[in-house]
Amino acid sequence: MFLTNWQRLTNTTKTFRTEITLLVALAASAGFFGYLGYGLLELPVGPVSFSADQAMVYVEKQMSYGPRITGTSASREMGDWVVQELNDKGWNVLIQPFRPLEDVEGRNIIAYKGSGPVIILGAHYDTRIISDHDPDPANRDKPVPGANDGASGVAVLLEMARTLDVASTDHTICLAFFDAEDNGYIPGWDWILGSRYFVENLDELGQCQSPRYTVIVDMIGDADQELLWEPNSDRRLTEAIWSVAAQLGYGEWFSLEPGTPLLDDHTPFIEAGYTAIDIIDFTYPYWHTIEDTTDKLGVESFERVGATLEVWLENGAPGP
Ligand SMILES: [Zn+2]
Repeated sequence: MFLTNWQRLTNTTKTFRTEITLLVALAASAGFFGYLGYGLLELPVGPVSFSADQAMVYVEKQMSYGPRITGTSASREMGDWVVQELNDKGWNVLIQPFRPLEDVEGRNIIAYKGSGPVIILGAHYDTRIISDHDPDPANRDKPVPGANDGASGVAVLLEMARTLDVASTDHTICLAFFDAEDNGYIPGWDWILGSRYFVENLDELGQCQSPRYTVIVDMIGDADQELLWEPNSDRRLTEAIWSVAAQLGYGEWFSLEPGTPLLDDHTPFIEAGYTAIDIIDFTYPYWHTIEDTTDKLGVESFERVGATLEVWLENGAPGP
């Protein structure tokens, strides 16, 4: 999916790079001391309803459509299935059509439920047109299968739609399935087109306006999971959610060490001044290769992310 800010910065002046590095270092140290002050949240943990096995079923269903490239019939059919699932689970569904390219139709799918301040859980459902990070040059014009990069985040959101006790969150929960996230560096395209459109047109989506928090879930399914703090993500919100993970015994997989700064679907929210984070494992070796397939995923990885988000939300989503 996305380019790193470091890659972007290599195109800018050295002075600017240094300033940004200092800013990141300052933010990181402030965040670190903030975490020490914050302490471990102790939340009551009721029965966890999130089923990682069911999340895997949702991954396999998405994979059965083939690559979900924006504007293709596979994308359309898979999106129709998502809408049907959300309707069946009693969510209100909005479709937000947009044109990522002049001759390509994309659409974001949004579901909402509950009342109170808004929390957006987001994931991209499109898959990248080309596997340009594949080690074999012969594979680099083939599409990414997108088991982790695409299907994993959507599976977490769908399983949340099935199991979350929305009333106990004291929030309006908006599930945002973004299209056209993953085609940057391809002529005519850019990254994060769906989430950009979503943030630019939030006033169209009355129930999801002015989100208190936005949490993006992307590439969380790697069997060898390592979830680091993504340094463009709000540090204190990361700490609050990572603290729940630690309480559930997942501290080994949720680290507050800084990972690679990334451009992802949280970026438009941050740029618009909202509090947003990206839960992502960017250590996935099959990123943007034809090997991004279901066999690389681990059911426990889904369990850790799903249970953490469920417990955090059902305790009223404590945070900054
Ligand atoms: Zn990607």
